[in-house]
Amino acid sequence: MRHVMKTYGRKSIAFTHGDGAWIYDTSGKRYLDALCGIAVTGLGHNHPKITKAIQEQAGALIHCSNLYQIPEQEALATKLCSLSNMETVFFSNSGAEANEAAIKLARLFGHNKGIETPVIIVAEQSFHGRTMATLSATGNRKVQAGFEPLLSGFARVPYGDVEAINQVALNNKNVVAIFVEPIQGEGGIQIPHPEYLNNLRTITDKQDWLLMVDEVQTGMGRTGAWFAHQHNGIAPDVMTLAKGLGNGVPIGACLARDKAAEILAPGTHGSTFGGNPLVSRASLATINAIESDSLIDRATFIGNAIAQGLRTNFSDEASIVDIRNKGLMIGIELDRPCVSIVDHALEAGLLLNVTADSVIRLLPPLILDDEQIKFLIVRLTTVINKFLEESK
Ligand SMILES: *Cc1c(COP(=O)(O)O)cnc(C)c1O
Repeated sequence: MRHVMKTYGRKSIAFTHGDGAWIYDTSGKRYLDALCGIAVTGLGHNHPKITKAIQEQAGALIHCSNLYQIPEQEALATKLCSLSNMETVFFSNSGAEANEAAIKLARLFGHNKGIETPVIIVAEQSFHGRTMATLSATGNRKVQAGFEPLLSGFARVPYGDVEAINQVALNNKNVVAIFVEPIQGEGGIQIPHPEYLNNLRTITDKQDWLLMVDEVQTGMGRTGAWFAHQHNGIAPDVMTLAKGLGNGVPIGACLARDKAAEILAPGTHGSTFGGNPLVSRASLATINAIESDSLIDRATFIGNAIAQGLRTNFSDEASIVDIRNKGLMIGIELDRPCVSIVDHALEAGLLLNVTADSVIRLLPPLILDDEQIKFLIVRLTTVINKFLEESK
């Protein structure tokens, strides 16, 4: 890939096609895809209903512009709002862009209240994207280094720490919102205290701040609820989605409700491609397939089965610090850096990755069958044992 900018360190493999949880490389070797293009293809590859929807829509109308009514986009917005209890949606083409919309919305919310330098509280170890605003919101120096000056208007607190937010509230009258991931994905599958979001809801209500959740990775059924915040029984003011929203077509969304629903007024934001007929149809087909195959509950079952299987296999292994999951966000934390596991896994026919240096991250599809669950546990156990043996 000589003429592609080297923004990614790439493996030397290329894939030709996929079928459900399986994906095939150019030599014909097959892999169980336990990464889903980083939480994107939750329904697996070449899903017949999604393929059909894309083919039909491509043959009718791919794009027309948001200058006109787009019935497919309206249908998708209606569906997403009914699943989430949100009220309005802005469609983007990626997670970073969905988060840009949320950040702009929060700033406008502040300006409308007479706060001219609004501040958004964000978390350490968070990841919100690679655009200038979202990398400034991100709590990872590696993402920011070299791109200063960063955007101002963010206050950072430790993830999961409610008291730190109370301290910010005392000292900063310009705060307008809290923006967090319900579970930190890139940060290493960090699952906060079960009451964390409830506590944030209480604080934001009391202070008249917006509660904004980045569900770009946690959304679309992956954690065993349509949206991870639903485990808490709370309603955020703003929620962003992308990754699993279109099973691989580029689509993101920023949803809002109540006092946040109408803040982005005509002329304040836009996107040429956002929510075009093609991606909207693909996303509707994705949602319909998740519903008709009851995959939300299945995600809980698969995730717990994988985590439990691994816990059993490694019950005597002190090098495994923790095995944690919420549905199909699964983290296996080792006591040492383990990036080379990715190559061992490739050899064994498994796609996965490593985040935060020492956490093996599994983001498998919601359609794994029982045989594939076993395959994943058995192969991964062998791979981890081999790695531990070699890195002694
Ligand atoms: C991946 C991710 C993003 C960025 O999404 P892009 O589509 O790559 O811009 C933002 N937030 C979270 C939580 C993510 O996991």
